Amino acid sequence: MPPFDVPEGDPFGPHNLPYGVFSLTDPAGAPERRVGVRLGDHVLDAGAAAHALGSPYAGLLAQPTLDPLLAAGRTAWSDVRRALTAWVTVPAHRETLAPHFHPLSDVTLHLPFTVADYVDFYASENHARNVGQIFRPDAADSLTPNWKHLPIGYHGRSGTVVVSGTDVVRPSGQRKAPADTAPVFGPSIRLDIEAEVGFVVGTPSEQGRPVPLGDYRDHVFGLCLLNDWSARDIQAWEYVPLGPFLGKSFATSVSAWITPLDALDDARVAPPVRTHPLLPYLDDASEEPGGYDLRISVAINGHVVSEPPFSTMYWTAAQQLAHMTVNGASLRTGDLYGSGTVSGASEGERGSLLELTWNGRDALELPDGKRTFLEDGDEVTLTAWAPGPGGTRVGLGEVRGLITPAVSP
Ligand code: CA
Repeated sequence: MPPFDVPEGDPFGPHNLPYGVFSLTDPAGAPERRVGVRLGDHVLDAGAAAHALGSPYAGLLAQPTLDPLLAAGRTAWSDVRRALTAWVTVPAHRETLAPHFHPLSDVTLHLPFTVADYVDFYASENHARNVGQIFRPDAADSLTPNWKHLPIGYHGRSGTVVVSGTDVVRPSGQRKAPADTAPVFGPSIRLDIEAEVGFVVGTPSEQGRPVPLGDYRDHVFGLCLLNDWSARDIQAWEYVPLGPFLGKSFATSVSAWITPLDALDDARVAPPVRTHPLLPYLDDASEEPGGYDLRISVAINGHVVSEPPFSTMYWTAAQQLAHMTVNGASLRTGDLYGSGTVSGASEGERGSLLELTWNGRDALELPDGKRTFLEDGDEVTLTAWAPGPGGTRVGLGEVRGLITPAVSP
């Protein structure tokens, strides 16, 4: 009986169960948003299922966003996941739950939580070195002096985080090539992607109290794929000395499905060997492995251009959380932080066009023509999977975005 009998090997089997928010696309159907859990190519209306089974979690799940579940905390997250796993695997529940499953093709997926603060990091050593070589070719070290001592990050714009499938309007702004005498204004001609993983905070923290490394799982609910769209020409002219601003803030896309950390226990790996001693609040030598073995794939118009391995990230999500709160800054439910562009050591593993084309020098050959940066009409899709229990794969929700032409001011 579909959808219970998910094919063997499906990356969205009962071992995964990511959370999202959906509504029925049919205008004659009930239009309200509800929390959904993905199983194969169906979504379970989690609130309706909880009511039908008389579950105590109906209050957390019969909601238009994930916000109440995010705020409920680690014990509730584990309990709800255990309950959901039983619902979709125990045959006795099949008849009760069948009416509450909807094919993915019948639903519209929405941004699943209210994004509070948004922070983006810069945690891939390969990415940082590539960018250093491209923009500071004369520097003695392609890494800045602070890079191995702290996870570099900046505060982004949470209000422009959008769900997968949302079109991205090409941004306009100022740019000035080094040889030009004055800046010009116009649509970005170096529109790029950054393939990243986003971490979603559930449990808030108190202002003035740093969150230690070991408390990561108590605060972070799960993760998603994230595309940090970047206008390289706007960014290059504006970023000195305060960092990214309009070159990034026009849009950030996230997947519609949030994968709970509990689904990724088999994907945890040790991060790369630390080459510099770490200050105690970042020293994770005695902590559980902080990396994740996520295999990301980047496609432009359906053609795979890169396969960045997340396991190569130097700084872990736990270290990033500890660093962003070490000054006493508090966490709020719905805070989102990006890992930074994921780039592996080889050319086919780079997570941005900036690196893949070496700042436009080496065009990519796609079936529909050459590409240095994105053209109007290009659609970028990020997908990923991680090792799951017993040789299974845990699929992450895809992030898709189509570039539409600039709008004149
Ligand atoms: Ca980024």
